[in-house]
Parts: sequence; C-alpha cells; structure tokens
Amino acid sequence: MIHHLDVGQGDAAVIVAPNGVTAMIDNGRQGSCDDTIAYVLGQGVSHIDYHFATHYHADHISCLDDLVDAGVTVGTCYDRGGSFGTQTYEDYIAACGAARQTAIKGQVINLGAVTIEVVDLNGAGVSTSDENALSLVLKLTYGSFTHVFAGDLPGVSPNVESIVGPEVGDVDVCLDATDPEACILSVGNNSFGHPTTEALGRLHAHGVEVYWTQTGSGATPGAGDQVCDGDVSVTVESSGAYDITC
Ligand SMILES: [Zn+2]
Repeated sequence: MIHHLDVGQGDAAVIVAPNGVTAMIDNGRQGSCDDTIAYVLGQGVSHIDYHFATHYHADHISCLDDLVDAGVTVGTCYDRGGSFGTQTYEDYIAACGAARQTAIKGQVINLGAVTIEVVDLNGAGVSTSDENALSLVLKLTYGSFTHVFAGDLPGVSPNVESIVGPEVGDVDVCLDATDPEACILSVGNNSFGHPTTEALGRLHAHGVEVYWTQTGSGATPGAGDQVCDGDVSVTVESSGAYDITC
C-alpha cells in the first residue's frame, strides 16, 4: 500500500510492504506535521525502516524531527548527501542521527517483495546547484507494478527529467517523461504556480489519469481528473494490478 499524504504544497508518502516493512518518501512541510504524525501513527506505523529525503526543500523534509519526537523510530535515512543551509535541514539531519546514509545510483533497497531502486540523483550528471534538480529519483517495483517518486525534479532549466525518463523506463504511476498510466499531484496552495498548465497539459495529452490530493495554485483540474481533498492511496496486488482511491 502506498499512501500519498495530503500535506498541501509538498510531499509525503508512506509505503507498507506486504511483509510489514515500511518506507517513507519525504515527510511534509512545516505546519502540516500534525497531519503527517496522525497519519503515520493511524496506519499503525511506529517504525520507519527506510526513510528517503528526495531533496532538502522545507516542503519535503520538515516533519521527520516531529515524527521522532512523537516516538516514531527510523532505521535508515537515505538522501542525496551534501548539505543545505537551513534550520529545517539541520533538524532533519539531527532526526536521522547515525541512521543517515548517502544514496547511491543503482542501489536497490529490498522491502521483501517490494523493491525501491535509486535510479539517479544529484542532477543525473547535469552540473547544477538547483536543489529541485538534485532530487532523488526512486522507482518502486512490486510484481509488474512500478511507481516513480522524483521529488521536484524539473523538466526545464535544467531538464533532468528527460535524462532520467529513459533510465526509469515505463512506469504505472507518474513521472512525466516515463509514459505513466496515472499520476498523483501533491501541490496544494502554493506560491509557485504549481501545477503549471504545461505540466498538466502534457499529462492530459498522454491520457494519464490524474489524481490530486487537493487543487493547487496553478492550472485547474481537468474534467476527468479526480480531486481527493485528502490522502490518495494506491493499493497494489502481487499480480501488479493496482487501485487508486481517495
Ligand atoms: Zn523542491
């Protein structure tokens, strides 16, 4: 089960593998941490075996220290390494403590039948200091089902997405350059104009099913889109068949 939490602008996803091993990809933004904590504890998760920080913007990593304060323990923290000059980053690092490890391109983390591969990171070979472009690109596989998480990876200036797309291959759920069947937008009220009309238009043009945790501050949802106004869950069977629900 993959839960995309409704944290407004920003990302947080909780993965519970069939054998009970847990992973978390990003953890939400300041101001929404109570929601993240309530959701994680509500799922009966008190230990996160593998936490991934796609990148160090505050709308992705603000709540790990709050989760730890709430009694949640973390096995391993994977991130892009390096550093970032914010207090939010320092709090994240402190919450990880000795559990922090720099992710390595090509590394595969096993959660039993579910695997999470680090497809690329740190700009995928493009020299850039754009924090979004440094995002980890993670590919979750369960049977024939694949789901890509790519933080805020940009498709323009620099266009890292077009490099990473072929590395990822075909996926079932999201990353614009990968020909997905479905995409989950976690935007919320934001000052960035997300999602852009161009990005949303590309998804619609490719016939992608689009799910929103909530409407954003950019393009408005298309007629066939589903706006959940809450968390979005992806339930995957061992056959690779999947079901997306609000
Ligand atoms: Zn970002």
